[in-house]
Amino acid sequence: MSIYLDNAATTPVCPQAAKAAYEAMTEGYGNPSSGYAIGQAAAAKVKEYRAVVADRLGCLPEELTFTSCGTEGDNWAIRAAVEHGKRTGKHIITTAIEHSAVLEPLRALAAQGYEVTHLKPDKSGHVSAQALADALRPDTVLVSMMLVNNELGTLQPVAEAARAIKAAHCPSLLHCDAVQAFLKVPFTPKELGVDLLTISGHKIRAPKGIGAQYIRKGLDVKPLLLGGGQENGLRSGTEPTAQLAALAAACEAWDTNAPARMAAVKAHALTALSAVPGLEMISPGDAPHICAISLPGYPSEMLVRDLSDRGIYVSSGSACHKGKPSHVFAALGLPKRTLMGVLRISFSPDSTCEEADALAAALTEITQTRIAMR
Ligand code: PLP
Repeated sequence: MSIYLDNAATTPVCPQAAKAAYEAMTEGYGNPSSGYAIGQAAAAKVKEYRAVVADRLGCLPEELTFTSCGTEGDNWAIRAAVEHGKRTGKHIITTAIEHSAVLEPLRALAAQGYEVTHLKPDKSGHVSAQALADALRPDTVLVSMMLVNNELGTLQPVAEAARAIKAAHCPSLLHCDAVQAFLKVPFTPKELGVDLLTISGHKIRAPKGIGAQYIRKGLDVKPLLLGGGQENGLRSGTEPTAQLAALAAACEAWDTNAPARMAAVKAHALTALSAVPGLEMISPGDAPHICAISLPGYPSEMLVRDLSDRGIYVSSGSACHKGKPSHVFAALGLPKRTLMGVLRISFSPDSTCEEADALAAALTEITQTRIAMR
C-alpha cells in the first residue's frame, strides 16, 4: 500500500485520460495535417479537444495553443512579452517565489541587460499588490506572477496586478503561471485580466508532455516554433494527438466537487499534523491542495526517505529543486532549523482523511525514533 501526497509534483493519469490516449494512438492515429479521411478525422478531434480545454479554462478555443509542458509555456510567455515590448523598455517584474521555469529565463534575460525586480513575499507567502503597483515603471514590459504557489499553496494577487498595470497606464504585458491553479481554484484568464497564462496537463491527471498557453485574443505574439504552421502558425510540429486526447479527457473527468473534497482532506490533515510533536505550520495554503509544514531539526531529505520507507510520498519542496534548498521557503526568511525541515504535502481529489492520519502517525513515529539536530 502506498500513500501518494505529492500531487503538486505530478499526478497519476486518470483512467479516462489513459483510455483516450490509447484510442488516439491506436485508432485515431492520422496526422491532422493529412487531407484524407483519417487525417481529417484527427484534425476534427484536435478541434474538439481544444474546445473542451478552453471551456474548462474559460477562454475562447482560438485563445488556446497547445504546448509540451508548463515550462515551455512560461518560457514562451516571457520571450513573447520581451519581444512585444522591445521598443518600450527592459524592465521586468516578477516574484521571488515563482517556479524556476519563470525565474531561470528571467535570469538569462538579466544577463542580457534586462532589469528584473523580484517582489518578496511576506512571512505568510503572499506578495503585496501594492508592492507590485509601486514597482511598475514606464519601461516595464512584463509582469510575471503565478496564481498559486507550488510549494506554499498561497494565492497571489494576479487580478490586482492587472488592475494596477491598467491604472498606471503601464505598457507591460501580464503573464500568469497558473500551472498549480488550473481546475483547483476558480478563475478565468479574462477575470484575472492577464495577457498570457500557462497551464500544464500532468498536474490534473493528464500525462506528462502536454500543456497549453492562453494568449489573449488580439495580442500579437511571435511564434514559438516555425515549421508546418500547426497551432495557427504559433507552434509548429505535428499535434501530439494522444496527449491532447488525454488532456481533454482529464479536464472532462475532473469533477466540480474535486476542490471541495481536497480542501476537506487538507483541513483534516492540518488538524492531525498539529498533534505531531514539534511540528510547525509554514503555510496552510489558500489553494485546496497544497500545504507546507516543518519539523525543525529534522532534515527534510531524511524525512522524505523515512516516509518513503513507510510507503508515504511527500516532497521536500518543488520536485524541480532536488537536493537544493528551496528558494521559496528561503524567501519566507525562516530560521535555518525550520528551513531545513520543510515538507510540502499536496492532495488529489482521491486523497483521504485516513491517508492524512497515516502521514501524521508516521511523522510522530519518526520524531520518536530520530534525534533532532540542534
Ligand atoms: N510552474 C509551476 C508553478 C509548477 O508547479 C510547475 C511544475 O511543477 C511548472 C511551472 C512546470 O511545469 P511542467 O512540469 O509542466 O514543465
